[in-house]
Amino acid sequence: MRPIIGLTHSIELDEVRLYANLSYPNAIIAAGGTPLLLPATTDESILRQYVQTVDGLLLSGGDDIDPQYYGETQLWQCGEISALRDCYELTLTRLAIEMGKPILGICRGIQLLNVALGGTLYQDLQSQQPDSLCHGQKQKSCYPSHTVAIVSGSRLHGLFGDDLAVNSHHHQAVKALGDGLVITATAADGVIEAVERPGLSYCVAVQWHPERLVEKQENAAHRALFDDFVNVCRK
Ligand code: MN
Repeated sequence: MRPIIGLTHSIELDEVRLYANLSYPNAIIAAGGTPLLLPATTDESILRQYVQTVDGLLLSGGDDIDPQYYGETQLWQCGEISALRDCYELTLTRLAIEMGKPILGICRGIQLLNVALGGTLYQDLQSQQPDSLCHGQKQKSCYPSHTVAIVSGSRLHGLFGDDLAVNSHHHQAVKALGDGLVITATAADGVIEAVERPGLSYCVAVQWHPERLVEKQENAAHRALFDDFVNVCRK
């Protein structure tokens, strides 16, 4: 049986339209899973039913998280926010942890996971960490633009070894770590690029976009992350 992977989505147009890049379901399908888009709602009983229905949760990329969720007010550089998406994904994440469902976070997903566990974010790397590398590459997302050093002993290290070339499309990043999270990859400037939460069935999050990298055959190695996640969800 193909495991069912619940997928979160972006919201636009005054919170009346949902959308997600097909790269996410494509990567899940290629790894042997069946993607299921979970439409946003604030009804917790429905969110609970979503989590009960799926074998794993993929937190997708997207806009910024309201800094109020990590005890800050918005800076000028903070980007667009959807109150509905924040509420829906924070609740889904809490429920998935409660019910022991595997979680994979991508880009906004690593930030969301961190905030859900009480961590904080840089609202804007360029202004708050002016010496940082370029994390907003201009080339297409299917090309890597910087490397990350992977912490030995992590799940990620088992998949990729010491170093990995990744793409970079984020102006925010994890600052203080959420409860129970450990750093598993950093860029050369010290920016946190991946975290895991040991002790849960599976809780891995990355700051890059592997779903876009795998679109190019030369980046096929990045499929390992989806294969690993979907395999855990199968059990
Ligand atoms: Mn980056």
